[in-house]
Amino acid sequence: MKVLITGGAGFLGSHLCDLFIKKGHSVIAMDNLITGNMENIDHLAGNKNFRFIHHNVTEFMFIPGKLDAILHFASPASPIDYLNLPIQTLKVGSLGTHKALGLAKEKKAIFLLASTSEVYGDPLVNPQKETYWGNVNPIGPRGVYDEAKRFAEALTMAYHRFHGVDVKIVRIFNTFGPRMRKNDGRVVPNFIDQALKGEPLTVFGDGSQTRSFCYVSDMVEGIYRLLLSNTNEPVNIGNQEEMTVLEFAKLIKKITRTKSKIEFRDLPIDDPKVRQPNIALAKKLINWEPKISVEEGLNRTIKWFLKNK
Ligand code: UDP
Repeated sequence: MKVLITGGAGFLGSHLCDLFIKKGHSVIAMDNLITGNMENIDHLAGNKNFRFIHHNVTEFMFIPGKLDAILHFASPASPIDYLNLPIQTLKVGSLGTHKALGLAKEKKAIFLLASTSEVYGDPLVNPQKETYWGNVNPIGPRGVYDEAKRFAEALTMAYHRFHGVDVKIVRIFNTFGPRMRKNDGRVVPNFIDQALKGEPLTVFGDGSQTRSFCYVSDMVEGIYRLLLSNTNEPVNIGNQEEMTVLEFAKLIKKITRTKSKIEFRDLPIDDPKVRQPNIALAKKLINWEPKISVEEGLNRTIKWFLKNK
């Protein structure tokens, strides 16, 4: 296959580039580098199956020749990033998704949208199934990301129903691993960075809110399988190992053997109280479930952080 990956220099995008190259496909990575980083794909430079295009996906794009699939992964994805880049986040989810879908239609390519557990907002049911419609505050600070992704899902389904584009929608739950930016503000890089420096781990609120963390190699394998599947419905991909943020802080302390203390800070507005994927659909449709435990994933990630300080 020849595939286009928007956001190809980002955390998930770059791991997808690696996976597609490893499986023998040809990859064009596109990124405007506002949160992506060339270091994530430096190692692919010179590979005859790899090309990078510095471009903002919200502007018209011209790609000569055939394309078999487009994976639309461009977007700020950490709460800190999308709070700092609210308009860009709305634009890439709406205008960027429109451009990428238009290209998929033109090339008769499969279109895969990177959606998110944030479409469930602050969920009133736990774990979340794909059939749950969510509980989102449209005008809150997180609304710029949540509503952009919800609009992107709606647009994707409209292109499927109206234009017959073969679409896939992956709802990605918290994912972590090497290449997360130390300062991207998410809990995994924050706690690891703080623990390695011996600084206090900053737990927001009382730490009773839950998350379920998936290691990146499991995530990209699930996305790959979904791309090759027959389904056009949204599918959750994530690890079901749910824990509170306070438990997570203690786990990081145990693994890193840091002397860091735990400090409590204000809870961000609209921070979801619970989050856990129901992955029955992924198991059934694409025979996927995570293989790497949170602890094993953290060991690998911490090793990478130590090497890339
Ligand atoms: N969080 C925290 N300390 C931090 C960063 C995040 O306690 O230094 C909390 C945050 O409030 C949320 C959870 O950890 O409840 C996960 O946050 P993250 O930013 O990683 O992503 P989210 O799941 O909220 O999109």
